[in-house]
Amino acid sequence: MDKIIDGKAIAADIREEIAADVVALKGQGVTPGLAVVLVGDDPASRVYVTMKEKACEKAGIFSDEHKLPAETTEAQLLALIDELNNDPRIDGILVQLPLPDHIDESKVLEKISPAKDADGFHPYNVGRLATGNPLFQPCTPYGVMKMLEHTGVDLTGKEVVVVGRSNIVGKPVALMCLAQHATVTLCHSRTKDLPAKVGQADVLIAAVGRPEMIKGDWIKEGAVVIDVGVNRVGEKKLVGDVEFEAAKARASAITPVPGGVGPMTITMLLYNTVEGAKRRAAQ
Ligand code: NDP
Repeated sequence: MDKIIDGKAIAADIREEIAADVVALKGQGVTPGLAVVLVGDDPASRVYVTMKEKACEKAGIFSDEHKLPAETTEAQLLALIDELNNDPRIDGILVQLPLPDHIDESKVLEKISPAKDADGFHPYNVGRLATGNPLFQPCTPYGVMKMLEHTGVDLTGKEVVVVGRSNIVGKPVALMCLAQHATVTLCHSRTKDLPAKVGQADVLIAAVGRPEMIKGDWIKEGAVVIDVGVNRVGEKKLVGDVEFEAAKARASAITPVPGGVGPMTITMLLYNTVEGAKRRAAQ
């Protein structure tokens, strides 16, 4: 096992599989389609949306973009989602977050048909994941699981420690590890003695959003470390939530930042869209 878990290489492998699946689906007359909805002009969101469009294009997935002005009303957005729910060309709908303050985010996410919820944030899909029968799974945690799989990590009976309990990363990744028979500890800002908890981990998954807050010497010798954190320090430098160099010295395998979990997220969005298209083709 390589010590550095190369997210770019794993993402490239999965994208090849996706491209092959798209060719096969097109052969059956089904072109996978992803609708991406952006409201307003948040610069970071624009960058993400452009990256998603380009990735779709490259994979042969039909990308249906909707860039709406910041003044779009909640009712207008809900009406668009309704349209997309009923559009037979669309297998996945993604509403780029955050939404402007006058729009109720949960109302919008719940409007998306669970059968087209490529981000896996609809309570129906959250419930399916929690009950061990997932349909669409959220992209970043799903990407973490694919990385572990590609690295050859068997989670059965392992101690997994997740730091961070957000709905988009920490909680779902904990459920996914549980489904793979790990013993999971889910830590957060009120956790007592975090270093001791981290020290128990055979597999550590960090999703906090604080630059290098998890120190290398907390980590058990031989642990696998997955760092979801992306933190900007200074003008240009990105670092994870784990003190990388010190952690690398103790870990058996570790993801870098950048080039670790990051490249997996969009890949899993494409993957989910293609899974949706496969279900359409099977109907
Ligand atoms: P959130 O801010 O939603 O959640 C952060 C979590 O960390 C919370 O549960 C919080 O606890 C916990 N936390 C905060 N401080 C501490 C502390 N001192 N000790 C222990 N736990 C703490 O973040 P996200 O889950 O959205 O994102 C986490 C990181 O992952 C960010 O750096 C983000 O940029 C990155 N990210 C990367 C993605 C990628 O594609 N690579 C995609 C998504 C996120 P509490 O709940 O108690 O407040």
